[in-house]
Amino acid sequence: TGKHLAAAAAQADYPTTHAKIEQVADTTNFIDNQFVPSQASTWIDLHDPATNNLVTRVPQSTDAELKAAVESAQKAFPKWRATSIMTRQQIIFRLTHLIRQNMDRLAASITLEQGKTFADAKGDVLRGLQVCETACGITTQMPGEVIEVAKDMETRSYREPLGVVAAICPFNFPAMIPLWSVPLATVTGNCLILKPSERDPGATMIIAELCKEAGFPDGVVNVVHGAAKTVDFIIDEPAIKAISFVGSNRAGEYIYTRGSANGKRVQANLGAKNHAAVLPDCNKNHALNAITGAAFGAAGQRCMALSTLVMIGETKDWVPEIAERAKNLHMNGGFEEGADLGPLISPQSKKRVEDLIQSAVDEGATIVLDGRGQKPANYPNGNWVGPTIIANVKPHMKCYQEEIFGPVLVCLNVDTTEEALELINSNQYGNGAAVFTRSGATAALFQKELEAGQIGINVPIPVPLPMFSFTGNKKSVAGTGMSNFYGKDGLRFYTQWKTVTSLWRAEDALATEKQVAMPT
Ligand code: NAD
Repeated sequence: TGKHLAAAAAQADYPTTHAKIEQVADTTNFIDNQFVPSQASTWIDLHDPATNNLVTRVPQSTDAELKAAVESAQKAFPKWRATSIMTRQQIIFRLTHLIRQNMDRLAASITLEQGKTFADAKGDVLRGLQVCETACGITTQMPGEVIEVAKDMETRSYREPLGVVAAICPFNFPAMIPLWSVPLATVTGNCLILKPSERDPGATMIIAELCKEAGFPDGVVNVVHGAAKTVDFIIDEPAIKAISFVGSNRAGEYIYTRGSANGKRVQANLGAKNHAAVLPDCNKNHALNAITGAAFGAAGQRCMALSTLVMIGETKDWVPEIAERAKNLHMNGGFEEGADLGPLISPQSKKRVEDLIQSAVDEGATIVLDGRGQKPANYPNGNWVGPTIIANVKPHMKCYQEEIFGPVLVCLNVDTTEEALELINSNQYGNGAAVFTRSGATAALFQKELEAGQIGINVPIPVPLPMFSFTGNKKSVAGTGMSNFYGKDGLRFYTQWKTVTSLWRAEDALATEKQVAMPT
């Protein structure tokens, strides 16, 4: 990493340090394959979370700009849907190649705007890249079915694109989550309006540039900016047929409800509270290392962060050993060599996390490791909260009830596997859950009985690779959970079936008399 950064710094075509930027450039819209400066009257200042220095200003795109993006996508759609699947596939091949080539540049943008470490930011890009790579196989994934349903009569099914679709993204995976949508929405023949998080749109802007270079025609991929006002435009714009949303429950449930009421297809992945059950028979060193990484990596700002431990029996005595590991994690600016975790996204987020830690103190839990007030020496102004471990937590406590989205691990104690299962399944969220055990029988029990949609067995963050879909459930998705991101479900989301029944027969064999009853 160090070498990479030094080499990149020598070329100096993208930031590789948290140094103050002297000439701050405004973020532009990307409409009709052009980077268009915004005429916005409202701008959102974007700060480097490690320093709170200004990085860019993000526009609240104007109504005219939002409309122009939709018109560009609408204009592009008839030609794009008629473009052969082989041509669309070739563009995705080129995009995949370009993303890999630009991985460091994308990761640097993420580290600067979002705060996660450079190594972790590359993982963010890689997970999105893998969706692109999988989309390159579209020619074997798209075919429909055909069967002869009667003599000389056949029914065949096609997947057709929906039209103009939109994606609304969260701040925590600035490359991966836009790339859950870009390749699949476009390779299936749709035109896309992408709204990145107003807190870190830089990676999306690089992806837009790479889309143009890959050969997407004008209007197939557009990027607009802003907060709730842009989202409301997307929800209410009749030309937009489907919305992919990833983010908080507050925003997502609203978007799902109002979007569905407007007749749109909506997929919405929401918040989480991921539990790990730890059994005394597990490989202790593996479990404690895995838990430490999954609780505090990315400063806990992952929807699949392992934020809640259910310590079964004697494992409750292992908490100090997790604390020892957590203390050794290096919190620092994400560009710094050896950094394990960076800052939180904003001062508001830092305050929210600190308030939740205080609520645990007030409600009588035990603070085993307190990250409040910690900061790296060279970054006095960042949004820092160090790894924090709260033990003896009870289910009614606020720190258990709410998604913390910070480097905070809450630990609850139970005596039996049954109690662990009951506790985990009582939680309203259902994104992920893990179990650490050496017993196949216990693993099988948890695999079967846990209600969460993504289960890890000795695996702390069981996010499926894109040959599968992301399968959170319960309150971690809006609606029925029938519209998962990527994989086969992702293709289904971005397409609708058309079935055609045809009869081709020699002229003299065609019906000579009218038939009014249903054929029996
Ligand atoms: P957020 O809901 O604040 O923002 C997500 C998007 O919604 C942004 O583009 C934002 O502009 C928009 N938005 C925010 N408030 C809005 C409002 N009131 N009305 C309309 N639009 C609004 O989420 P975030 O803080 O960026 O992301 C963190 C959340 O996302 C966490 O809850 C995390 O668990 C969740 N998340 C879930 C998954 C998953 O796959 N389940 C993945 C990543 C993140």
